[in-house]
Amino acid sequence: MVSVRGLHKWFGPLHVLKDVDLTVAAGEVVVVVGPSGSGKSTLCRCLNRLETIGQGSVEIDGEPLPAEGRALAKLRADVGMVFQSFNLFGHKTVLENVTLGPTKVRRIPRAEAKERAYALLERVGIADKAHHHPAQLSGGQQQRAAIARALAMRPKVLLFDEPTSALDPEMVNEVLDVMVSLAAEGMTMIVVTHEMGFARRAADRVVFMDDGRIVESGAPDDFFANPQTERARDFLSKIL
Ligand code: ADP
Ligand code: MG
Repeated sequence: MVSVRGLHKWFGPLHVLKDVDLTVAAGEVVVVVGPSGSGKSTLCRCLNRLETIGQGSVEIDGEPLPAEGRALAKLRADVGMVFQSFNLFGHKTVLENVTLGPTKVRRIPRAEAKERAYALLERVGIADKAHHHPAQLSGGQQQRAAIARALAMRPKVLLFDEPTSALDPEMVNEVLDVMVSLAAEGMTMIVVTHEMGFARRAADRVVFMDDGRIVESGAPDDFFANPQTERARDFLSKIL
């Protein structure tokens, strides 16, 4: 579903992704961990072309990333992204947030989009908030709304960039529980997170990044019990 080959990314003189290779199969859940500044967010952003690629290739479901126009809008619909900061439209209701993409980009009739949105809000446990504005919701509820909005596009892949990092601790699990259920249902997911409990519960594979490179990749139990590199051991000793 996702194929990254020899990916390099520069910001001016700063070389932030250095020859990254990553293949994610349909239905696979890959957790990306690594120190701050190691390139995790940039990698995610390259996958839905929020960033341009310096060198190398990214393919989603066998198609190279389009540069612009409707093809790019379709790619962004196929590769959903959930951000640390929720990024909901503040002046729209939760329901409007969830129906906007499907009606505008997927060209789904409004009534059908609404019906689907209610079902998704039900699924993430906030159907009663459909007509509220984001500011009236808790952080955990806002993030679940953001997940419903991403799902409404029926993406092929969902990217999560530290989806629980901005949440109060008591709200982390309500978001992780939704993500675990998506993983169990076979959604293809790339999840940047420091929640090792989530990695243990849901990940097929953990990828460890450091200084713009994928340094290690393995099954969660192997990675946590037996990291192969000094850098991974050092990282784990700081977060566990
Ligand atoms: P992570 O998500 O692992 O913390 P990032 O991908 O955000 O790392 O950042 C990787 C490196 O790229 C960092 O050194 C960061 O400062 C730099 N960087 C990220 N975005 C930009 C940008 N838009 N312009 C310049 N430098 C950036
Ligand atoms: Mg980041």
